[in-house]
Amino acid sequence: MSQSRIVLYYKFVPLPDPEAVMLWQRTLCRELGLKGRIIVSEHGINGTVGGEIGAVKQYVKQTRAYRPFHGLEVKWSEGEADQFPRLSVKVRPELVSFGVPDQIQVDENGVVGGGEHLTPEEVHELIDAKKRRGAPVTFFDGRNAMEAQIGRFAGAVVPQVDSTREFVTELDSGKYDHLKDQAVITYCTGGIRCEVLTALMKDRGFAEVYQIDGGIVRYGETYQDAGYWEGELYVFDGRMNTRFSDQAKTLGECVHCGGPTSQFFNCADPGCTTLQLFCANCEHIPESTRCAVCAAAASRALEQGSA
Ligand SMILES: [Zn+2]
Ligand SMILES: [Zn+2]
Repeated sequence: MSQSRIVLYYKFVPLPDPEAVMLWQRTLCRELGLKGRIIVSEHGINGTVGGEIGAVKQYVKQTRAYRPFHGLEVKWSEGEADQFPRLSVKVRPELVSFGVPDQIQVDENGVVGGGEHLTPEEVHELIDAKKRRGAPVTFFDGRNAMEAQIGRFAGAVVPQVDSTREFVTELDSGKYDHLKDQAVITYCTGGIRCEVLTALMKDRGFAEVYQIDGGIVRYGETYQDAGYWEGELYVFDGRMNTRFSDQAKTLGECVHCGGPTSQFFNCADPGCTTLQLFCANCEHIPESTRCAVCAAAASRALEQGSA
């Protein structure tokens, strides 16, 4: 039996003709029998591609052969390729949908004006150095609030956003202005969202913004649960959560009984993508339970129907 692998990668680099890159990538993946999801924009490329190990290696080699993608860093994962139902290669205005493609500038070195990259070790060095001077450092969650329910950095500020699109309004609200003259370390799953988020923050007057290189994934590989990370990591595949060690705390709370859990379940409404936490005792409930938004909509529809 042949082994399968998944590669995850992104690169911010100017692509004058994203349409041509998209067509080339689509053909390449089809020829190699790969599945997954690739987004191409004028700002670069972001992909998760899986298939037979030899085919994935070929894919990486050929993708790197294109000059803008020279030195493309990829992260190998042992996941099964069949977790992707199909191949999707698309051109989008942004690699990550903040809704502000015109506010992002990209050059050969990546996003212009982004926060300084810190390795996991440098995160600790920065915090130690600031502590010695009595200066605060705040972690800032660059993900959707839902993801932070089961895991986040110690003392992190978690913006209450349901999607990346809501960040700009959130930043402009003034809620986080107290962080503008202190050190802020942003983080997200693999780092791509922070590439853009830190640039948007610096643009808005946040003076000292850092981002964790490789995101929570790389930090967790380095420090597991013995550093500043607490809880479990939300992941965008069937598992929905993963932990770095057996020492991981359970931060999530069951929406039904308040008991500890890290397990998300889909809203019972088939068209809804909202995820809610349920504990093992209450696992039977989500099959028939809508999220708060869908429940309210359903009861409104019922009222209107009976009026
Ligand atoms: Zn429960
Ligand atoms: Zn719902």
